[in-house]
Amino acid sequence: MAKNTDKDLLKDNGFLSQRQDDYFSMRLHAAGGNVTSDYLRAVADAADRYGKGYVHITSRQGIEIPFVHLDNAGDASEQMMSAGIGPGASGKKIRAVVACQGDRVCKRGLIDCQGICEKIDEIYFAKPVPYKFKIAVTGCPASCLKVQENDFGIMGFLEPLFIEENCVMCRQCEKACGMSAITIENGSLYLDMNKCVSCGLCIAACRKDAMQIKEQGFTVFVGGKVGKKPRMGQKLLKTDDEEVVFDVLEKTIAYYRQNALEGERLGDVIDRCGIDQFRETIKYLR
Ligand code: SF4
Ligand code: SF4
Ligand code: SF4
Repeated sequence: MAKNTDKDLLKDNGFLSQRQDDYFSMRLHAAGGNVTSDYLRAVADAADRYGKGYVHITSRQGIEIPFVHLDNAGDASEQMMSAGIGPGASGKKIRAVVACQGDRVCKRGLIDCQGICEKIDEIYFAKPVPYKFKIAVTGCPASCLKVQENDFGIMGFLEPLFIEENCVMCRQCEKACGMSAITIENGSLYLDMNKCVSCGLCIAACRKDAMQIKEQGFTVFVGGKVGKKPRMGQKLLKTDDEEVVFDVLEKTIAYYRQNALEGERLGDVIDRCGIDQFRETIKYLR
């Protein structure tokens, strides 16, 4: 990046203005909060050389190097690019995807959050949108990555099926369930699907194969955001097919691009036009 004083160009290259004149916080690209030790070493070197020897971990699992002077912005950017680290996204772009460790690491993980995150990042990171578009992937209904606070959220689910003849009434599933969806009374087990959030913990707890998998896959949420006017994302669909999730993501972004007014997030568009219109429109989008 050439040395210049064009604030928009600087922002495009990940440099966010600070309250101190001529100083910028250099935002770096990272997806799903996973970075290598080489990435960290390159960032540490740049923070020593161009910043104040520290980094800031952002709310979207990214890294910023604060206090990069305008005169050093070009060199700092080049050093990062030569280490294979591009700029982070800000402004009217699809932001860094956030993801938990999912089934690669977490005992409760039901989907490969990091794999899905990598694929989304490759296709959509920093692509233009009317305002902001945030995507989160979380491995189970514990929702550590707060998918309901993102424009598009993907959550793993595992729905249980009770097989009465295998049950020995040991109560392990009842203890494992944090939702009081399982009760054992008078020698009978009751599974209340109105309380069940499909976390699959009862299936893992049962040693007698009496809790089996009925359905497994992805729950998709849309329209969430925080900020001054928070809005919880709405459950859009459940599917066992990852391709369906990607198809719906593509169509949701297309819908947002076509329908958003100045400064609107996806949730604002859904509130203005209605969730039924959103559902109907994305069915026909290509
Ligand atoms: S959301 Fe579930 S899978 Fe992801 S870190 Fe939390 S408990 Fe683990
Ligand atoms: S899937 Fe989770 S919430 Fe549903 S019954 Fe089993 S443990 Fe309870
Ligand atoms: S853990 Fe399995 S065997 Fe024990 S009560 Fe629950 S379903 Fe029955």
